[in-house]
Amino acid sequence: MNLQGTHGSNGRFGRFGGRYVSEVLMQVLIELEEAFESYYPTVEFQRELGVLLKDYGGRPTPLYYAKNFSELIGCKVYLKREDLLCGGSHKLNNSLGQALLAEKMRKKRLITETAAGQHGISAAMAGNVLGLEVEIFMGIRDMERQESNVKRMRLLGARVTPVKTGSGNLKDAVSDTLREWATCTRTTHYLMGSTVGPHPFPEIVATFQSVIGKEIKEQIVEKEGKLPDAIVACGSGGSNAIGAFRPFIGEDEVRLYFVEGGGSSLDADNSAAAFVLGKPGILHGAAMMVMQDEQAQIKASKTRAVGLNYPARGPEISHLCETRRVESGYAFDHEVFEAVRVMCKTEGLLPALETAHALAYVLNHHDEFDQDSILVVNYSGRGDKDLETIAGYFYGN
Ligand SMILES: *Cc1c(COP(=O)(O)O)cnc(C)c1O
Repeated sequence: MNLQGTHGSNGRFGRFGGRYVSEVLMQVLIELEEAFESYYPTVEFQRELGVLLKDYGGRPTPLYYAKNFSELIGCKVYLKREDLLCGGSHKLNNSLGQALLAEKMRKKRLITETAAGQHGISAAMAGNVLGLEVEIFMGIRDMERQESNVKRMRLLGARVTPVKTGSGNLKDAVSDTLREWATCTRTTHYLMGSTVGPHPFPEIVATFQSVIGKEIKEQIVEKEGKLPDAIVACGSGGSNAIGAFRPFIGEDEVRLYFVEGGGSSLDADNSAAAFVLGKPGILHGAAMMVMQDEQAQIKASKTRAVGLNYPARGPEISHLCETRRVESGYAFDHEVFEAVRVMCKTEGLLPALETAHALAYVLNHHDEFDQDSILVVNYSGRGDKDLETIAGYFYGN
């Protein structure tokens, strides 16, 4: 691959980000950047996206005061209910935005990749709404693990293409999708699923997801008359976290916590904690914190939460953690399952395994928060998709 960073462009977050891609993709990324900058701010785009988010997606999502969970933690905990967005997670915010952008750019087809299937499903939904063909690349191992989501994507009319290279998971699927894109950029938009990849993707995804943080700000001020003391979000690429954090990054009194997948232990073969085990490197066209071995070969990440199973952290969250504006933490698989049990019991809500990382962090660190502290947990998704894994953990199969 021909390495070419965009030095001096605004695609940099400190030493992270950039655009390390082939000539072919460089051109199309510049076109995408220009299209985003010209369409996104227009009244028409804002109005159309607003209607889609509201009437199709169900925004604004509620900010729920979780009274019983709060009593257990010892401070006030609010849940930003992205599980109630249509499709069951925050993913649709970005998919609707990018599908609308693709339609404006007169593309006919969306391609993307998915791990757990959540992003694939939201891309298929958004593609159908905007009248675009959808093809989804998925690691062969992930396809076996997420059989029901594969069926759902196919039912929605998307083509699901197995990726057999590498270890057959998300990292390999992203590589294959970038390769495919280079052959069909004229007709096709790559609907990147998280705040990763070459510039302008991290910026586009962050912009579409920041609707979460904007709503949190309005809702918490309405309920509490002030900003929260802390916001906690789980993540891998960082899209739900950056979406929740963005409007608060300049508010120094609001502490921001990012929770990644600890896996079964912090041993590099059994974890997805790239902030603990990784170092700066280049993957999928951008400089990020990446899990790699001595020879700079990418290491496979491992966690039971498929949506957190990516060996790198996006450029913006990498930078925010490096500069300590955001505090990074992790939760181990067994703590995550315990957090699921607690949320089910206290609030009657079944969280996604990814989301339960943020809850586990709050449970483990509750003594760091004063009694009158106000915490917002970005409740990124519901756990129906994980029911078998969760039931298997508690009751055996
Ligand atoms: C995909 C997913 C995540 C992780 O992705 P980010 O881009 O880091 O937000 C977290 N929670 C849920 C429910 C997801 O579906």
